[in-house]
Amino acid sequence: MQRIEQIYINGEFVTPHGREWFDLYNPSTEQKIGQVRLGDEEDVRLAVAAAKAAFPAWSRTTRQERLAALHRMHKEVSAREDALLEAIVTEYGAPAVRSRWMATYPADTIAQAIAVLESFQFEEQAGAAQVILTPVGVAALITPWNSDAGFICNKLATALAAGCTAVIKPSEMSAMQTQIVAEALHAADLPAGVFNIVNGSGAEAGEALARHPDVAKISFTGSSAVGQHLVAAGAATLKRVTLELGGKSPTLVLDDADFSAVMPLVLQAGFMNSGQACVAGTRILVPRHRLAEFEQAAVEALAHIKSGDPRDADTDVGPMVSAKQWERVQGYIRLGTEEGARLLAGGAGRPDGLSAGWFVKPTIFTDARNDMRIAQEEIFGPVLTLIAYDDEAQAIAIANDTSYGLSAMVLGKDVDRCQRLARQIDAGRVLVNTLAHEPRAPFGGFKRSGLGREMGKWGISAYLEPKTLMVG
Ligand code: NAD
Repeated sequence: MQRIEQIYINGEFVTPHGREWFDLYNPSTEQKIGQVRLGDEEDVRLAVAAAKAAFPAWSRTTRQERLAALHRMHKEVSAREDALLEAIVTEYGAPAVRSRWMATYPADTIAQAIAVLESFQFEEQAGAAQVILTPVGVAALITPWNSDAGFICNKLATALAAGCTAVIKPSEMSAMQTQIVAEALHAADLPAGVFNIVNGSGAEAGEALARHPDVAKISFTGSSAVGQHLVAAGAATLKRVTLELGGKSPTLVLDDADFSAVMPLVLQAGFMNSGQACVAGTRILVPRHRLAEFEQAAVEALAHIKSGDPRDADTDVGPMVSAKQWERVQGYIRLGTEEGARLLAGGAGRPDGLSAGWFVKPTIFTDARNDMRIAQEEIFGPVLTLIAYDDEAQAIAIANDTSYGLSAMVLGKDVDRCQRLARQIDAGRVLVNTLAHEPRAPFGGFKRSGLGREMGKWGISAYLEPKTLMVG
């Protein structure tokens, strides 16, 4: 049992004022493996005060000083890759296909922030005026459980690169991963107060942070419902808000596609991060005249997808993060059948042979309509929905008939045609015949998938305000 008692404020690990403890579980065994003490409103107040006090000096640091700090962060986070990997498997249950990436990605995000900062233009001329991009102030960074260290490092490195100071409120369910990141960041020897980490619940610590008058900016990754709430909470003090929210991303399979060749991409897009991915391609749009053929190829490919122990090298899909999340996914699997979709593979309950752990059978529904809830709502588990279309125009209409717009993928042999269709999809990112990630490009969503962008020069700009300087 690991007991995480301290939070990080003003350059030190301190015991929080909050007295509540939150239980941590191994989702593969359902065993309690630890506890974390939660910070409260008073802890948030202290953390924001520390970040506010550190802001004047940090905001005036030179590019070279910030780069040096980011390099130290990169070194310390990289050095803890193996410890992070262990925490990611134990506390989150990510399988090998995901966990190593999740352990290296945090340091990679810092390296990306370094690359952006090296060439970022903080000043430009606009006619007779000079425009100076100025850090907004204290940033509240609120992150979810499905890639804890990656989100913390990406948001923090970007905020610091811009000259902001920060208070981080990570998911209380990821406290072991957060602890390793906190130790790495402490070892990076940044000035006290530049970053602070308050473990706590969303309802108490998150809420206090979102409403604090000295917080100038909120960068949030999580559910659309909480994101919408944060816009309202920050409105009283007109906080700048960047939101990375949910998705119901379409994978558009064109009629010239070689199904056996594209199926690995289709399933990888759908089941990545055990289906607990905001960008997961969960609506598969298939040409109606080839639907039966696609279904057969999908069933054959699914037989090789293993849901189970994340420590087994051949596991593709690990457990859901919590009992609540498992119940939620089971509810959607039952709902699909109730709504009249046909279960093609998978279904309710645990995979055969497993009696414990929050494991889900990788599931595919077919004969679904896009207005069904399983096609409209984010399930956040390994559940895919096949929807048939008759022609290109209908395919695009279905792809865009969603309240989300985070990501999309187009698969087909004719790349020009794929690109033409990709341009018609309302999503922050459209991938053609690939799942590759380009960290220099902006990441974020249309519609209810978010507000603003992270990554690259767009990411750093979200922590800056243009100031116009005119000299007479
Ligand atoms: P969540 O919205 O419940 O929680 C996210 C974070 O917000 C947590 O730290 C939580 O404690 C905090 N929070 C909750 N209520 C709050 C409040 N009232 N005020 C302030 N903070 C509050 O989401 P989750 O269950 O942790 O994560 C799953 C969701 O996140 C999914 O919907 C998924 O799509 C989304 N997500 C999006 C992205 C993206 O980049 N777009 C990435 C990962 C996850």
